[in-house]
This record gives sequence, structure tokens and C-alpha cells, in this order.
Amino acid sequence: MPLPGFFTKKETASTSRPDGKVRSCASCGLYKTSISPRMKPYGEFRKGIVVMGEASGEVEDRTGKPFQGKTGRLLQRTLEKLEVDLFRDCLCINACLCRPINDEGENRTPLGVEIESCRSTNIRVIQEHMPKVIILLGNSAVFSLIGHRWKNSIENISTWRGWTIPDQDFKAWICPTFHPSFVERSDKGAEKKIWETDLAQALSKVEQPLIRYKKPIIEYISDLNVLDSITSDLIAFDFETTGIKPYAKGHRIVCVSVADSEDHAYVFLLPPTKKECSPLIRLLKNESIGKMAHNMKFENTWSKIRLGVDVRNWTWDSMLAAHLLDNRSGITGLKFQTYVNFGIVDYASEVSPYLRSEEKHGNALNRIMSLLESQTHVKSLLEYCALDSIYEYRLARHQQTIMNYSFLPF
Ligand code: URA
Repeated sequence: MPLPGFFTKKETASTSRPDGKVRSCASCGLYKTSISPRMKPYGEFRKGIVVMGEASGEVEDRTGKPFQGKTGRLLQRTLEKLEVDLFRDCLCINACLCRPINDEGENRTPLGVEIESCRSTNIRVIQEHMPKVIILLGNSAVFSLIGHRWKNSIENISTWRGWTIPDQDFKAWICPTFHPSFVERSDKGAEKKIWETDLAQALSKVEQPLIRYKKPIIEYISDLNVLDSITSDLIAFDFETTGIKPYAKGHRIVCVSVADSEDHAYVFLLPPTKKECSPLIRLLKNESIGKMAHNMKFENTWSKIRLGVDVRNWTWDSMLAAHLLDNRSGITGLKFQTYVNFGIVDYASEVSPYLRSEEKHGNALNRIMSLLESQTHVKSLLEYCALDSIYEYRLARHQQTIMNYSFLPF
């Protein structure tokens, strides 16, 4: 089908997605019914802030500019109170660049495929402008900028709102919050208050340089004696195992990582004999080294049942601390915490399917053993395991700072 004049060839170029499906700008067809299709970014961008909404409504489509209707005015007024002029200080874009309408010609929420079709254009705009802060208003905006990099379900805005994410790919603070139309519809003052607090927190990041992290050093070892030379008084450790619970026949710890700083970990396949494992056992028993894990009950139970060790000096559980800091459901997983706190996305995507059991009972085996059949897969598994303990270590230290936890020996 010939493309209408407003699409250049480059603009409609297809982009591959990690799952192999392909979307291009014109493929959703919304341009056919919009007055202002593929709306251009709008705003002078003086403070380096990108604000991403959902899609044009009737007024935006008619005027050719984003955030012109009732909800746009609410956003303008709220930002004004925070000393930000939406169109002077920010660059305004939408997750969907055309106006989505239903059969009656009324506004509707854009579909996932419609947002995916605009994604590469929006990413290009962001890369060209290099914003300091990107405010994501609502589910569609979160799906647009995070959805393609996130293998799990993106859940909804209640999970994402309020985080200020130092996104290492976009090199910007990504700050999701409610969409103004939700705030407007909500009759309780609480949502408005939360929204204003989120926006204020996002704006406070404009002057804060983005945290950049060192590339971690991973030591792949087969002789565990090097663990005896650990001098740190704190470690985080992590097991990859054949399932959730260690009790049933056939279960085993497959690999282990030990992080002794925020940037360094040892990782190894668990050797078959107790003698070869003895440096690990000594380390876990060592009273003077504090132990941290993400869900320490897991590492504790596997240590006891499969290594015969009572771990000494448990110091921190970063999963428990994540829940203490924020009791929303669905946020305590290490992958989520690593992204929202350090801006590092989905470092585990190719390995994690092998760590899930198909059967839904506690003793089910997962498919981790099949990874051992290829050297490349073993390397990926070990890397994944090492990064887990490194991010656990970083997360624990980050939480300790936030919680002003001062009775540790460092
Ligand atoms: N106006 C926009 O441009 N986008 C929205 O998400 C809402 C209003």
C-alpha cells in the first residue's frame, strides 16, 4: 500500500523486537483516521525534561500539539506550582503518536501494538535530545519505554510510580507516575497528592547527575581455595539450584556466586565432593564475615540441607529490606529492584526460563541441568549467578544507606 506523504521511508523503517516480531510506524493504521498523525515532539526543552503522555485526544489532534485538553491543562498547572513550564522547560511526546479512536469516533486507550509501532520514533527522539529526566505518565508511557526491555509482565502504573530510575540505557532518570486523566477522574485527594509528590521528586533529579556503575569483575573459578583469601567482612552469596526446595531426591545446588564487594564476585559450578567444597563451607561458617542474600531463607535452607552447613552471621536480606522500604506487592524481586535502583534492565533474560519449573509444586525440577550441556550456556548461567550476588551486594548497601543502618562493621 503506498504511504501517505507525511511518512518518510526512514521514519517508517521496521524495527526488530527481541521476540522476533516487527512493528513499523505505519503498520498500525492509526494515521488514516488522525487529523495530526505522527505528532511531532513539542516544547523548548530548556530544562532537559521529556514528558511522555499516552496519546492525542480530540483537542490535541485538532490543534496538532500535545497536552492541550483538560488533562493537559491539569498537568500544566501542576508543573507550574513546581516552577516548571511544560512547554518551555520540557519536550512533550506521547507513547502513541496518532489519535486512537473507537467506532464512535471517541478517544480510546492505544493498544500495545500501536504503542510498539511508535516506539522506535520515540526512542530516536530521546536519543537525539539526551534528556536528564524522562517523566512517564501512565501505563502506556511505561510500556513504551520499558516494555520492550522487560521480559516479565509490566504490571501496571501502581507498581512503577514513584521510582526515580537511573536508566543506564537511556542515560537519564526515568520517572513513572500516574497519568493526569487518572488523577482527574479520581475523587480521592490521595492520588493527586501522590502524583504531585512523584512529579516533585522527578524534577529534583534534573540537577542530580546520573549514577553510572562500573562494569563488574567476575572471576570464574574451579578451585575454591581462593575463597579462603576473602578479606571483606561482608559477602553476598547466591545459589542457582534445580528447584525451589532442596528436600526431594535429585535436587542439587548447581552453581554458587560470592560477591565480596559491589563490583566483584567469584562464581563456580559446585564441585562434586565435600572436600572440594570445603572452602565454601568454611566461608559460610565463618563468624566474622557477615552474610547477605536476596531471600536469605532460600540460601539458608539449601546450605543446611544440601551442604550440611548452618550459615553463621546472617546480616542482611535485601528482599526483606525491599519490602520494609516499600510494601507494594510485586516489587521485591531482584530483577525489579536492580532496575528501579540501578537502572540495569533484565540482565538474565536468556537464563531465567531454565530456572522456572513447569510443574507448580514445591519439589518440581526446573531445566537448569540442560544448560550444562553447552559451554556457552554454562558461561551464561555463571554470569547470571555472579551478577545476582553483585546486585544483591549493591542493593543491600544501597538499602543500608537509605535506612541509615549504622551498626555494621563498615
Ligand atoms: N494530551 C496528550 O497529548 N497526551 C496525553 O496523554 C493526554 C493529553
